[in-house]
Amino acid sequence: MAEDGSGVPGARVALVTGASRGIGRAVAVELGRRGHRVACLYGSDADGAGRTASAVAEAGGQAVAVAADVGDAEAVDAAYAEVEGHWGAPGIVVANAGITRDGLLLRMDAEAWEDVVRTNLTGAFNTVRRAVRAMVRARWGRIVAMGSVVALSGSPGQANYGAAKAGLVGFVRATARELASRGITANVVAPGAIETAMLDAVDERRRAEMLGQVPLARFGTPEEVAAVVGFLCSEAAGYVTGAVVPVDGGLGMGH
Ligand code: NDP
Repeated sequence: MAEDGSGVPGARVALVTGASRGIGRAVAVELGRRGHRVACLYGSDADGAGRTASAVAEAGGQAVAVAADVGDAEAVDAAYAEVEGHWGAPGIVVANAGITRDGLLLRMDAEAWEDVVRTNLTGAFNTVRRAVRAMVRARWGRIVAMGSVVALSGSPGQANYGAAKAGLVGFVRATARELASRGITANVVAPGAIETAMLDAVDERRRAEMLGQVPLARFGTPEEVAAVVGFLCSEAAGYVTGAVVPVDGGLGMGH
């Protein structure tokens, strides 16, 4: 019997933000497949989060769907309290929720900047900070933040998004150093172009341009990102911390 009473050796409670679709859904399913209990946090798409919870159950795991705007620290706190009420404190946290509000810098207004920084960077801060106290007490934790290849390579029209994703690297590396002595690892996964709703929103010309730059000559799948996240959240990844792990078909090589 695992410490959390789930019956699966090494099973933990995991919390994934942005789990109503795309990469977050695939991560939730992967963690469920690995025997963890998965809290699927979502912003507004309750139906999508419900479908994720069903997919986790089909994969052999247990899941609950919980609403929380990650940019709102009080909402994140309430979501954690709900999860803790079900299963106890999460030992695995994946800060995945993210948005884009693309536009060239000359035309980018303050709102587009602030929205993206609030969700993608402050959202990760709210999510991770709330998890840390219990991890320190348990002397074990796995933190993964969803970055992006564009944090280091730059992408026209994404000054806000690139800044937020680059900020995540500094945030996670500081966290990794602060918590290393407590058995807690913190890493960034940096996807390239992955087939999700976020990529669907990119115009055809830009998609073709991106595809032309990918050495593996195809877009990635959410499951390919989830496989790497699953490893980083495992016992086996105990010596990996402060890393930025690309899952990008080679797109970011050299950065
Ligand atoms: P999707 O647009 O498919 O999904 C985004 C998820 O984030 C949804 O579940 C959405 O939930 C959630 N979300 C958005 N805003 C908030 C908020 N304020 N509070 C809580 N949840 C929120 O995106 P992807 O799956 O493609 O992206 C997942 C992550 O991967 C993001 O961080 C993204 O930046 C990153 N990434 C994606 C790449 C790609 O090519 N797809 C490439 C590189 C990085 P809801 O709809 O319920 O609000």
